[in-house]
Amino acid sequence: SVVMASEKEAALAAIPSDSPTIFDKIISREIPHHVVYEDDNVLAFRDIRPQGPIHILVIPKVKDGLTGLSKAEENHSTSWAAFSTIVINDGPQGCQAVYHIHVHVIGGRQMNWPPG
Ligand code: C5P
Repeated sequence: SVVMASEKEAALAAIPSDSPTIFDKIISREIPHHVVYEDDNVLAFRDIRPQGPIHILVIPKVKDGLTGLSKAEENHSTSWAAFSTIVINDGPQGCQAVYHIHVHVIGGRQMNWPPG
């Protein structure tokens, strides 16, 4: 795959779609990752380009077509409302590079506001 100079570049190059993404290969273990938590519904793994001492991605394993937060509806299987204080990049302007909805859990350093 193409190595991007930055997440912003990757987000601008990514095409929003329902197609399989790199995260499907992480779920199937085709691409090995450092998994920190897994159950029937959710996989959590270390981000390969961590933005802090701790940077975990949390993704649903159930493929129900939910690519991003702005597409979420009540019938989707996972309750994304529970993650309201955690980073969810959405769309090209929101620096989303992978269209399989995911939560960034970043910690271990002082955060700044506003982001980006
Ligand atoms: O929110 P966004 O779509 O930009 O986040 C995608 C994240 O997936 C990035 O932080 C990137 O570092 C991570 N990633 C990863 N392993 C891959 C591809 C992307 O951890 N193989």
